[in-house]
Amino acid sequence: MTAILVACGSPKNSTPKIEDFTFSVDKFADIEILRYRVPGFEDLTLKQKEMIYYLNQAALEGRDILCDQNNRYNLRIRRTLEAIYLNYSGDKKSADFENLTIYLKRVWMGNGIHHHYSEDKFTPEFSENFFKSAILSIDSTKLPLSQGETVESFVNTLIPVIFDPTIFPKRTNQAEGVDLIKTSGNNYYGENISQSEVEAFYAKMKNSNDSTPVSYGLNSKLVKENGILVEKTYKVDGLYGAAISRIVGWLKKAAEVAENDKQKDVINSLIDFYNTGNLKTYDEYSIKWVQDLESQIDFVNGFTETYGDPLGMKGSWESLVNFKNIEATKRTEIISSNAQWFEDNSPIDPKFKKEKVKGVSAKVITAAIIAGDCYPATPIGINLPNSNWIRHEYGSKSVTIENITEAYDQASLGNGFADEFMLSDVERKRAKDFASLTNNLHTDLHECLGHGSGKLLPGVDQDALKAYGSTIEEARADLFGLYYMGDPKIVELGLLPEKEAFKAEYYQFIMNGLMTQLTRIQPGKNIEEAHMRNRQLIASWVFEKGKAQKVIEMVKRDGETFIAINDYEKLRTLFGELLSEIQRIKSTGDFESGKKLVENYAVKVDKTLHAEILNRYKKLNLAPYRGFVNPVYSLVKDAAGKITDVKISYDENYIDQHLRYSKEYSSLPHIN
Ligand code: ZN
Repeated sequence: MTAILVACGSPKNSTPKIEDFTFSVDKFADIEILRYRVPGFEDLTLKQKEMIYYLNQAALEGRDILCDQNNRYNLRIRRTLEAIYLNYSGDKKSADFENLTIYLKRVWMGNGIHHHYSEDKFTPEFSENFFKSAILSIDSTKLPLSQGETVESFVNTLIPVIFDPTIFPKRTNQAEGVDLIKTSGNNYYGENISQSEVEAFYAKMKNSNDSTPVSYGLNSKLVKENGILVEKTYKVDGLYGAAISRIVGWLKKAAEVAENDKQKDVINSLIDFYNTGNLKTYDEYSIKWVQDLESQIDFVNGFTETYGDPLGMKGSWESLVNFKNIEATKRTEIISSNAQWFEDNSPIDPKFKKEKVKGVSAKVITAAIIAGDCYPATPIGINLPNSNWIRHEYGSKSVTIENITEAYDQASLGNGFADEFMLSDVERKRAKDFASLTNNLHTDLHECLGHGSGKLLPGVDQDALKAYGSTIEEARADLFGLYYMGDPKIVELGLLPEKEAFKAEYYQFIMNGLMTQLTRIQPGKNIEEAHMRNRQLIASWVFEKGKAQKVIEMVKRDGETFIAINDYEKLRTLFGELLSEIQRIKSTGDFESGKKLVENYAVKVDKTLHAEILNRYKKLNLAPYRGFVNPVYSLVKDAAGKITDVKISYDENYIDQHLRYSKEYSSLPHIN
């Protein structure tokens, strides 16, 4: 994002029209890369655009942090692959080189050597010998060598990490009955630390009498030094300090052009946190952040989601810069202003309901940049902060990222998927008419109300469900949304045009949970990822409970399986029953029941059905996963160096973007 000089009167940017915009950018392995539009950016004030520019810079500076959190060899491997890609003088048309290029694209997509979704280590399709000779053929000063390290020993270090399938086979291991820390390939814990040591370390740190517990362990790596466990804190003068200092530098610039004092205060608190690493400061920042509802620009920047840690404590670094889509936000404001009605009428035991639902704020946003753990694969909605006590006392902020869902929807139009997997034209027509609407609404309900509803009984540990916690929590939020989508209140509130519309969401949800999400799983594998587990849990539970009454059927036609939903109202009742049970599990911290539900319904895959789905899917030649490239922002300055505009362009391709990011935003040492 270099500043460009334009004499004066440069033509004003405007968002390209949908019909003139190419959403699909690149395709490799199981990935399709899309680009997204940023409608409305040109209507922001110059000061707002400038602020977004600085926040974007702060976002991109954290890229290496996530890469290193994912595995301690990731930065060295990525930098080596990039060095080969740029400097290799051999045949760039050879199969080995082309396969290395694909591998590099996958490493960018996964922010490391593991698949971003399945979390399995990639299998390289180029040979060890090629890799070795390619490294030896380039100037060694281009390689990420440590002080005094020889190229030979460097190669010998990397080769097993890349090629040996038994080393770091999984980034985050959620399997049962093994040491989750020792079997996870990520870098949140040092070497030779066991799960029981970690659990003991944090159990001792947690003070159950503390009514405002900080998120222990969120911003540190736990390592063993001379036999003693110590936290290495992520902060300006600590671990990842080089990148964090640069983030802070850009945040300071952003604070200077903040929209208002409240927002300035939010940014300054985050800077304090990055300076000190103090988790109390982080909570102060989160409280200020969740209370800033007036500003149009907003951002996430920090150690946020804990899905990457098998024990759910360590935060992966991510950033999202965005501004409010004022028109679309009206929809979520209707939901929020009726939050108490939804809570009061939910089908759960009254003793688990919140007497007063606080601060459920919701908005539809336009993403300006996605980074860290939000890039290239990105969520379509977020609900933060994660700290339970802050959510309880101050509420949470919930967003739907509509320009991202626009890109997904536009890229999917007419790709053959609905023709292959939906039962009939009835389902297809309903999807065409309503699915975009109901998808957005389900996300809104999930994020605005689902996660925020219900309460823990006094004394219940928020981590009581341990490794099953994420799946249960996602299921709870999804079920809350599903249950209400079919409620007449939704039509009454004007959120759906007619009662029939909810069926589009129910059909897609069940089809996805029982069948089509299996396209994302390799043959022979189980389901590991929390959101996928949640979807199968819900779909297979209601399928089984409604079996006697044939609520849902698996219909066979010419040897192919289709989902038929015969009774949508009964299905809604079943969603309500499961919501009630899952809320009970969450509220009482019933680990055994949570475990049973997940292990029985969410994990195992029907091998025959799986093979059939993969086969049918393969014929469509679609990529099961999608990632994004960001637009490029540049400052426009006049002859005196004064900023006159921020230009946005959409023409950078996937490879160029990553190579540029690695050049411009890569401040961390090879080994951290
Ligand atoms: Zn969620």
